[in-house]
Order: sequence, then C-alpha cells, then structure tokens
Amino acid sequence: MKRQTSVALVAHDNKKPELLDWVREHIHLLSKYKLYATGTTGKLLEEGTKDLAPLTLNKLLSGPLGGDQQLGAKIAEGEIDFLVFFWDPLEPMPHDPDVKALLRIAVTWDIPFACNRSSANFLFASAQLADDFVRKDPDFQQYLQREIKK
Ligand code: PGA
Repeated sequence: MKRQTSVALVAHDNKKPELLDWVREHIHLLSKYKLYATGTTGKLLEEGTKDLAPLTLNKLLSGPLGGDQQLGAKIAEGEIDFLVFFWDPLEPMPHDPDVKALLRIAVTWDIPFACNRSSANFLFASAQLADDFVRKDPDFQQYLQREIKK
C-alpha cells in the first residue's frame, strides 16, 4: 500500500504570515497529507489554523537549530514528497548553509518544491498531486560506483 503523501512546510520569520495565509487557503487539501514543519513554523501553523480544520503537524527542531537539516535527512530517506519553503530573499540568515543544503537536497532527490506563493499555488493545483503522483527515484549508481583514485 502506498504510504500517505507527505509535505514539509517551512518559512523564515518575515514570510511566516504569508505561509500561514497560504496554508489557511489550502487547508482542505493539506489536511489530507502527512505534514512536517520546522519547529517555529509548525507551532505557528497549528495555532493559526485552530479555527479551521485541526492540522496535525510533525514538528521538528527549529530551522536554525537543526530543523532544516532534519528535513533534508527525511527527504534523502524518501519520507518527504513535497517541500513548501518560503525563504526570505531580503534578510541574511545565520543558518544560510542549512537553507542551501535543504534546497540542494530537494534538487538532488528530485522532489517538487516551491519557494514562493505563486509556485506553491501551481504545485498544489497540479492534478498529479491531488491523485497519486509517483516520483521516479533518481539513479545514483554511477556516482556511488565512481572510481576513487588511491
Ligand atoms: P523555524 O525555522 O520554523 O523554526 O523558524 C525556519 C527556518 O528554517 O529558518
């Protein structure tokens, strides 16, 4: 049996209100999925949607304290299917390497991800997402079997 589709939600502080607004707009669709979020984002989304449908979010550590890396590990382990990450292009972040690492791992494992509201709208309007989107696993055999000079 195919496991429940999972979606990770993250937003930097200046983008949290926009993510909350987007989540509220898509609450009926999102409540069908297994949801993950970095700590502060998750707390805010849970509190901010209480008046709508109850959202069960798997809250990880706060992003700058390792939450972004936890999400990256879950993507690499095949536990996360979609990433919605509203990162802030106008604010320097102390955990910028973690942010880049999360985006890099999303590309590496070819998971669909959206970094702004319009892209998230496109992603979640996709009929494939609503039905049973199956991602083809990237093939890393060539990389894993590369010759290492001794
Ligand atoms: P936060 O982390 O949800 O704990 O604020 C977000 C981030 O990666 O900066």
